[in-house]
Amino acid sequence: MQDVSYIWQQVLEKLELRVSSVSFMLWIKTIKPLEIDEQDNFVIACQSVSAKNQILRNFIDTIGDCCFEVVGKPLKIVVLDQNEEIEFLKKNKTTQISSDKKEEKNPFVEKFTFDNFVVGKSNQFVYAAARTVAENPGKRYNPLFIYGGVGLGKTHLLHAIGNFIRENNPELKVEYVPFGKFTSDYISSLQSQTKTQAVMEFRGKYRNLDVLMVDDIQLISNKKETQEEFFLTFNDLVMSNKQVIICSDRPPKEISTLEDRLRSRFSSGLIHDIQKPEIETRIAILQKKSQLEKYYVDDQTIEYIAEHVDSSVRDLEGKLSEVYFLATLSGKKVATIEDAEEIFKNQKEELKNDLTPDKIISTVCDYFNVSYNDITGKKKNKEIVEPRMIAIYLISEILNLPLVNIGKLFGGRDHTTIMHSRDKISEDLKVNKKTQTLVDNIKNMLTSGL
Ligand code: ADP
Ligand code: MG
Repeated sequence: MQDVSYIWQQVLEKLELRVSSVSFMLWIKTIKPLEIDEQDNFVIACQSVSAKNQILRNFIDTIGDCCFEVVGKPLKIVVLDQNEEIEFLKKNKTTQISSDKKEEKNPFVEKFTFDNFVVGKSNQFVYAAARTVAENPGKRYNPLFIYGGVGLGKTHLLHAIGNFIRENNPELKVEYVPFGKFTSDYISSLQSQTKTQAVMEFRGKYRNLDVLMVDDIQLISNKKETQEEFFLTFNDLVMSNKQVIICSDRPPKEISTLEDRLRSRFSSGLIHDIQKPEIETRIAILQKKSQLEKYYVDDQTIEYIAEHVDSSVRDLEGKLSEVYFLATLSGKKVATIEDAEEIFKNQKEELKNDLTPDKIISTVCDYFNVSYNDITGKKKNKEIVEPRMIAIYLISEILNLPLVNIGKLFGGRDHTTIMHSRDKISEDLKVNKKTQTLVDNIKNMLTSGL
C-alpha cells in the first residue's frame, strides 16, 4: 500500500498547525503510524493507555480531518495502545506467514531479540538473568521478576526470551501475556455461556505451559477472582518447575493492589530492576538502532542525541527517527548535528508550558492509585502523605510556582509545610534509590504523554 510513514509525516505537518504546540509535542508527535489497510483503516499506536484515551477524547476528529486532506478520502482512524500494538504486530506477522504457510507462526516480535538488546551497566544484571532463564527455564530464578520505568526494555527482554526458546527449544510451550489480557480472558471465560468449560479451557491453556511471561503486572486489579486465578496458575507452574517471568513498572512492594500472598510469592525467586541507561549505553543503543533501521546519522549527532535524552530507550529511539526523518525531508543522506539541534530546539520550554499543576497532581494520583481529593485533602496516613509530598516537590521543581500558590492547591496548606515537603523529597532523592526511581517514573509518565 501507500508509504504510511510518508503520509503520516504530511498529516503531522497539518496537525501541527491545528493543535497547540504543547499538545502536539506531548500527544501527537509520539504517535506511531502502523498501517493503512484495504478497508481504509489507518492504524496508529500510542505509547500508553492514557495517551490513547487522550487521543480518542481530544484529537481523533482533527486527525481524521487531516488524513482526509492528505489522502483525499475518509480513513477510519484506529488507535492502539502499546500492548495492542504488540498484538497487532504479532497478528500482522501471522497473516503474512500463513499466506505462504512455510513456517509456523512466531508469536513474538521478531526484532526483540537478545542480539538486538544493547547491554550496559544499567541492565546487565537483568539481561544475564533473562538469558539464564531462556537457556534453562525453570531451573534458576523462578519466578524472575523484572521491574523498571516505562520504555527501558522490559517487554523487549520478554520477547527475547520467547524468541530464544522458540529457536533453541522449540518443543517448549511458551506464552507471553500482558496482565490486562490475562484478566480480560479470564473474565470472559467466567461470563461465557458454557462457563465451566470455558474456565477449564482457560486453565488448561495457562497451566500446561513450560514458560509463562506476564507483562505489566502493576495493572493487577484488586478483583479477588482474578488475583485468585493468577495465584493458582502461578503456584501450579512454579511448583512443577515451570518458568514464570513477570514484568512491572515498579517493585512488588509498591504495587498497592497486589495481595500480600502474591507479593511474598514473587520474592521467592529473583527480583531485579532495570535502570535508565547511562551515556555510553545510550550511544551504543543509538548506533545499534541506526544500523538496524538503516538510518544514516553521523557520530557527533548520535552523541548529541544521547546527551539530550536521558529518560528512556523508547524516547531515545523516537528522537533518533525524528532527527533522521528531518534530514531526509531536506534531501540529505546523512543526518547531522543541525538536524538534531532543530529537533531539540524549544523542547524544554514547550514542555514546561504544557505541564499544569493539575496534570502533575493527576499523574501522581494515577501512579500511586490514590484519589485527587485525598492527595489535596487533609488525610495524614502514609499512603497519602508520600504521594502528596512528591506532587508538591514536582510542582515546585518543574513549574517553579511560589510556595504559597502550591499551598492553595493542597487545601490551603501553609507555605512552610509546602517547603518542608519539597525539601524532604529533594533530600531523600540524594540518598534513597527508591525515591529516585519513583520520581523518575513519574517524570517519565509526564513527559512521554502517559
Ligand atoms: P518497556 O517494556 O520497559 O516499557 P520496551 O521493551 O517496550 O520497554 O522498550 C522500548 C523500546 O526500546 C523498544 O523498541 C526496545 O526495543 C528498545 N530498547 C529498550 N532497551 C533496549 C536495549 N537495551 N537495547 C536496544 N533496544 C532497547
Ligand atoms: Mg512494556
